[in-house]
Amino acid sequence: MRQVALIASSALWARGHGGGHPLRPERLRRTVDLMTEAGLLARRNVTVVAPRLATDEELGLFHTPEYVDAVKRLSRGEGEPDARRFNFGPGDNPVFSGMYESEAAKAGGALLGAERVASGQSDVAFNLGGGLHHAWRDHASGFCVFNDAAIAVQWLVNLRWRVAYIDVDVHHGDGVQWAFYDSDRVLTISLHQDGRSLFPGTGGLEETGRGAGEGYAVNLPLPRHTDDETYLWAFDQLVPSLIDRFDPDIVVSQLGVDTHVLDPLAELDLTTHGLTAVVRRIAALAPRWLALGGGGYSLDVVPRAWTLALAVMAEADPPLELPAGYRSAHGGRLLHDTQLPQVDPRLRQQARQAVESVVAEARRIHRLD
Ligand SMILES: [Zn+2]
Repeated sequence: MRQVALIASSALWARGHGGGHPLRPERLRRTVDLMTEAGLLARRNVTVVAPRLATDEELGLFHTPEYVDAVKRLSRGEGEPDARRFNFGPGDNPVFSGMYESEAAKAGGALLGAERVASGQSDVAFNLGGGLHHAWRDHASGFCVFNDAAIAVQWLVNLRWRVAYIDVDVHHGDGVQWAFYDSDRVLTISLHQDGRSLFPGTGGLEETGRGAGEGYAVNLPLPRHTDDETYLWAFDQLVPSLIDRFDPDIVVSQLGVDTHVLDPLAELDLTTHGLTAVVRRIAALAPRWLALGGGGYSLDVVPRAWTLALAVMAEADPPLELPAGYRSAHGGRLLHDTQLPQVDPRLRQQARQAVESVVAEARRIHRLD
């Protein structure tokens, strides 16, 4: 039985973006409530560990000291003239009180997870508040302040481990890709909605790495209305062969669930069945595993999808029905999706055909044929 560490505590939702922001802390609180009520956190092979704050030195594994200092000042309500320079302001990246503590805990959570997996104390660690893959070295981006993924991957690289990073968020994992674009020690793989129709706009097939890193960045841009079946087919066509060839010591996965058909920010058509099947595939590929959260902006979907993900990690059979307490507070009936919007089958078919040609091109570029 895999030993699982869930990195979470109320520190993740004590402070955060206001209620109108898509990345509101309620997502994480409600997810931990559901995991608890579903009985997963009482299992003998699941340990809940509170995150710690990453130190300045640890944040410096990826971020510049100027940026870390600016986040601290802004978090205290100082240094507002600096906000724009670091891409903070109304919109995607608002400053909030206690931002440094909240975000440094998400980075510290990834490091705590990496330490536990590296020491053998856990087989898999799930940093629920992490997966903040858009943050850059010297500025915030796409709701992300500190890039816990890039920080943890760099920490693992410093152990001389080979790291495969698999990013299944609906948005391209740009911050992590660019962080290791020159490296042959880190394989980054991102499956996402095509950047021509979604933030951050990058993640084309032609982004394959540079210098020693040539061939170690892999992107699969997917068209709108890609569904479970097509997504899983595409994943199977690429990811297992890439992982097999790279032979990593550890897989770091970003498990954003904004690929779901009900997600308000993007246009892929996955369901909880597809999302869970992806997590099962990653579980089978990972020799050791650091899992991170990520995007996902439907409060109906996120708690269910990540509870199902934790059940895969813990090799547990989750209950079919939502627990009574959770149902009375939030509604719903089953843990998996029940009623979903109908999508025109012609759109699905068009997506399928487009994915077939993108996958063929990706296999050619990465010499998998
Ligand atoms: Zn996302």
